[in-house]
Amino acid sequence: MATPNPALAGYISCWAGCGSSRTGKPGGASSMQQDLLETCDFKRAKRERRPPNMQAYNRRITDKPTRPRRAVASSETAREINRDILLHAIHLHQPVSRADLARLTGLQPSTVSVIIGKLIDEGWVLPGTLGRLPRGRRPTFVTLNDRHVMLAIDLRPGRANLAVVDINGRFLGRDTVPFEINAGSAVDEAKTAIARIAQAAHSLKAAFGDRAFQGLGVSVSGRVDQKTQRLLFSPNVPWGQIDVHEELQRVLEAPIEMENAANACLFSERWFGDFHDASNMLVVSVSEGIGTGMLVDGNVVRGRDDMAGEFGHMTLEESGPMCGCGNAGCWEVFASNRAGLRYYHELAPESKLTNFQELLKLALAGDLRALRSIDKMMTYLARGLSILAVGLAPEVIIIVGDCTALWPRIRPLLESQLIAKSITPRTPSLVAAMDGDAARLRGAAALVLHKVLFGQTDFATQTVRGSARAISKAVPLPA
Ligand SMILES: [Zn+2]
Repeated sequence: MATPNPALAGYISCWAGCGSSRTGKPGGASSMQQDLLETCDFKRAKRERRPPNMQAYNRRITDKPTRPRRAVASSETAREINRDILLHAIHLHQPVSRADLARLTGLQPSTVSVIIGKLIDEGWVLPGTLGRLPRGRRPTFVTLNDRHVMLAIDLRPGRANLAVVDINGRFLGRDTVPFEINAGSAVDEAKTAIARIAQAAHSLKAAFGDRAFQGLGVSVSGRVDQKTQRLLFSPNVPWGQIDVHEELQRVLEAPIEMENAANACLFSERWFGDFHDASNMLVVSVSEGIGTGMLVDGNVVRGRDDMAGEFGHMTLEESGPMCGCGNAGCWEVFASNRAGLRYYHELAPESKLTNFQELLKLALAGDLRALRSIDKMMTYLARGLSILAVGLAPEVIIIVGDCTALWPRIRPLLESQLIAKSITPRTPSLVAAMDGDAARLRGAAALVLHKVLFGQTDFATQTVRGSARAISKAVPLPA
């Protein structure tokens, strides 16, 4: 594949984004070659019309970390930590000069130059325009190389949203694949739906053939075993017929990072969002059900069997309606999109509304019954949020979901409950993510980015901690 930038000459055009682009150069270390051999077996298997060697790939991603464990602080460990800090700083302040990076991070200018040189060699960072200063040498500004993109898939009940997202979180292309799968659907029907999603993914990838695809991320409403990537618990997503991860990987011929949508949004907020330094953060995803992602003391809380976060299934009222999980009166049967729609039908029995998007349209147009239905849904959402806020003490709660289209109306309602039920004078900030679809897609992209950029499937423990040092007055020259 032709590469416009010489720094990218080492890229190996593997859809899988297997990490080859990180080290970059053909003929690198032998372990690197082995990784490529294993990952690119997806392509070879396709040529030879046989299933890819998933065992080899799974061994690679589960047993062989892409970077040494950090229990012992070697000089290599320090370099890796500094590299991550610099990547975050470039992301936040780009275009930025090396001198300003040194000021922002507190690193020695020589250390910054060495690491930036390496990042440029690897192709993650691009040297940009020359800057100007009142005196002295003109600095060169660096930026992240937005040629790197991820394919993101958000699997929801009834539809899959797809997008190509670049390293800065920009959407380059989007598509939606509707499907009708329910708990009673046959295996073939589920496989057909996955095949249609794969077709749309291939079309999107082909439309951006000049970009460097780093891999595929999938966010899903349900809990995902982080070792096997199997969907463990998804009462609202009808994928019981097949192993979704395995089937997607088979038809897309690429390794995939799959994660619960709320957890994926945590990753997204940490890289693309405004909460780079938050250590205690809660993402509440409100859709057909309610899922939560929890960052506590800087760590994603996963719990036993990766099942932590299913607050949607905590019982609010024993006498409430039955839930898909088999219990009655769960939080999500009172506060999810489905509940909002049910409240509307109670007020307007003659209505033929079938989905929450139509209800939202009515509410945005000022329909009183639609607004009251969503108010009732938010009252229950607030009850659950106040329980979580008291128990987990987050700094910020991020609401992801279609309901945020009515944020000016629902925010005061949610906030007043959080304040009323708080046991301390400090209540968490309440923030709406951008539209629910975009947030979950960006989350899926962030899963891949964390893997290929930081070599981790969990948060880096180090971020730019808001250095008190002032940035210099250097400004980029106009193009
Ligand atoms: Zn339930």
